[in-house]
Amino acid sequence: MASIVVCGGSVIGLSAATLLARDGHRVTILERDAAPPPTETSDAWEHWPRHGVGQFHQPHNLLPRFRLILDEEMPGMVDRLVEAGCVWLDWLAVMPPLIRDRTPRDGDERFRFVTGRRPVVEAVLAAAAEEAGVEVRRGTTAAGLRTGPGVVDGVPHVSGVRTTDGDELDADLIVDAMGRRTKLSEWLQALGGQAPYVESEDCGFVYHSRYFRGPELPAFNGPPISDIGTISLLTLPGDSGTWSVTVWSAASDTPLRNLRHRERFTEVVRACPLQAHWVDGEPITDVLTTAGVLDRYRRFVVDGRPVATGVVAVGDAWACTNPSAGRGVTVGLIHAQLLRDTVRSGFDDPEAFVRAWDSVTEAQVAPYYWSQITADRARFAQMEALRRGEPPPPGDPTATAISAAMLRDPDVFRGVIEAATCLALPDEVFSRPGFMEKVQAHARARMWKIPGPDRDTLLRLVGA
Ligand SMILES: Cc1cc2nc3c(=O)[nH]c(=O)nc-3n(C[C@H](O)[C@H](O)[C@H](O)COP(=O)(O)OP(=O)(O)OC[C@H]3O[C@@H](n4cnc5c(N)ncnc54)[C@H](O)[C@@H]3O)c2cc1C
Repeated sequence: MASIVVCGGSVIGLSAATLLARDGHRVTILERDAAPPPTETSDAWEHWPRHGVGQFHQPHNLLPRFRLILDEEMPGMVDRLVEAGCVWLDWLAVMPPLIRDRTPRDGDERFRFVTGRRPVVEAVLAAAAEEAGVEVRRGTTAAGLRTGPGVVDGVPHVSGVRTTDGDELDADLIVDAMGRRTKLSEWLQALGGQAPYVESEDCGFVYHSRYFRGPELPAFNGPPISDIGTISLLTLPGDSGTWSVTVWSAASDTPLRNLRHRERFTEVVRACPLQAHWVDGEPITDVLTTAGVLDRYRRFVVDGRPVATGVVAVGDAWACTNPSAGRGVTVGLIHAQLLRDTVRSGFDDPEAFVRAWDSVTEAQVAPYYWSQITADRARFAQMEALRRGEPPPPGDPTATAISAAMLRDPDVFRGVIEAATCLALPDEVFSRPGFMEKVQAHARARMWKIPGPDRDTLLRLVGA
């Protein structure tokens, strides 16, 4: 069995560590933030300082694949999330009204999932990691890498981590779970190795979110994500009678920056008839604003050569996107499960291991990253054109046809939700026999225009 050091003890570091420890490996997490989760997980929202995670109090949705992996790997965890106040939801409950065939299908159970506020979810994962025997060193900051004898000419072999306290920990494998601001690329270059391949771009959106509480979760009268002209709305249940409302727009749309003001935010949501009742609860936060979120992708095999052996990146440390699709945690958990599988299938040859990790990441996880980037860029271009008063760009004809068909065909709807919620890779869904025929049957159908303020009304509501 191997000794493994995981740098970063947030949702994905904790999950990866738990899965590896349950296979018998000796796993240590180094987590920069000192505070442990509160004993009562339900207190985590108010009483757990986590400055290392900028988005700790931002709305987080969990997806069906997250629930399925927990069921496969950590039986009982979903019950523990529910005990901590998380709620069960079902994507089929938000099937568009134009779909008349509501007959259940085999496997519909897969669309059910639990979700809750991020601090609560993370506190439950933290407890599971400790129970699995993971040593979590909180208040310990990884500061750089140690190297040992190389296994590939000219490629550094990482054999340990240095901490800011001056400690040095040797391990058979170092896992970078330090999130979107990881310094792994810089650390590797400091060792004299080749730089990883990095693509990075500001997603261009600004998000305004507010949490509420009330005796009953508001009803979904429309889809959880609604595109209304130059804004998009996200309505999301949380745990323990809480929920959030998010409005996002292009950051370049300066008048809409006024959405950061409570009254403006509330008025805009109230002008959206399907979502207006979501701001009726008791607010438990101010409007939380997030901008400058990077879409960033890294690859650690460049021109056919690993940039290092002995170290791998998982979750946001590998790739991160803006949160529009709400799937970072789910994609990260898929990645953590694949890491455990890759460790299981062979660990003795460090070069072969890094190559295997690169291949499985590219095949099983990267497609979620690229599909989201494509969808976000299309939506951003649409927002920008509408803001300038121009017709929106036509968009990819296949994607447009799928979007129209999912509003009318129950199987196309299920397929799109499978891809959106990481139950299956987009290409796997779209290449299924008969899928595109069903899409084509609705190719000329019109999109469903979600009601909401037109541009002039929106500008008036935000006080521009
Ligand atoms: C505004 C916003 C909203 C989001 N909404 C959703 C959503 O609805 N659903 C969803 O699935 N995802 C969402 N995400 C994405 C999600 O937050 C991330 O995918 C997720 O947090 C990634 O987890 P991680 O463990 O990889 O990294 P992180 O959660 O970023 O954790 C990194 C950890 O590493 C620690 N660390 C950093 N440097 C060091 C160091 N040198 N030494 C030791 N420890 C270190 C940090 O303290 C932190 O604990 C959202 C993101 C944002 C920005």
